[in-house]
Amino acid sequence: MHVLTHFFINVLIGCIAKLKFIEILLLGLGGIFPDIDHILYIIFGEKIHSIKKAWKFHKREFKLMRPHFFVLHFIEIIIILSVVSYFINWYLFLIFLGFILHWIADAIKYLWFYKSLLPWIKYYSLIGYFLIKI
Ligand SMILES: [Zn+2]
Repeated sequence: MHVLTHFFINVLIGCIAKLKFIEILLLGLGGIFPDIDHILYIIFGEKIHSIKKAWKFHKREFKLMRPHFFVLHFIEIIIILSVVSYFINWYLFLIFLGFILHWIADAIKYLWFYKSLLPWIKYYSLIGYFLIKI
């Protein structure tokens, strides 16, 4: 799903929840931040260091809806960060709540595309990554 789509979904949910402007903005940013791991995967996983090649790779993989080892998409990590941030700072918690909304939107998109949980759940759960052999 496009990062701007994630941003606007989170902003819409923030508006429905009647949050303050800054809280809505943080929730929206929390919808964008998880996709930083796509860049990390391209650089460290695929070892692509050219912006042109990275963009070409990203566009192809995005079109194929092929998941990879995206560390900020593992639900266990997102839940731990959300719980810890809840006790530390409300604004930080809103960012990680945005991560959860991002994860749910991705899950719905992949479920719609694959008509099954199995092809992508391995890449969206740390436990699944190590236990599910596909
Ligand atoms: Zn995503």
